[in-house]
Amino acid sequence: MLKEVGGVAIQPRHRASCHCGAVELELDLPDGIVDPRRCDCSICRRKGAVVASVPLGGLRIVKGADCLKLYQFNTNTAKHYFCSNCGIYTHHQRRSDPGQYGYNVGCLEGVNPFDIRGVPTEDGVNHPSDR
Ligand SMILES: [Zn+2]
Repeated sequence: MLKEVGGVAIQPRHRASCHCGAVELELDLPDGIVDPRRCDCSICRRKGAVVASVPLGGLRIVKGADCLKLYQFNTNTAKHYFCSNCGIYTHHQRRSDPGQYGYNVGCLEGVNPFDIRGVPTEDGVNHPSDR
């Protein structure tokens, strides 16, 4: 977990937003950024975002719920959300752990994910739920 990225402190309640600002999230991050990672599955390899995890109850949509678009594919288990105006991926309900959301670390207010060193890449081609 990361309590600070590039000099920016991660707040216990940290705001996140899409690019155009239509969608705003509030995340409970008492332990900072937990398990930051990339993934090479078919969707993640295209979006390239650094993703971290929060429990479902730790993410609230404070603005723009009507702007969020849901995208699903394959087993239709995971729920991928993005802003229908600017196209930015904000968060998704995970397939390997439906009790968690993954969220786009690059959407966190003030956080530059390129300041996080050594972000691991998960083996999404061989997804744990497909084994
Ligand atoms: Zn947007």
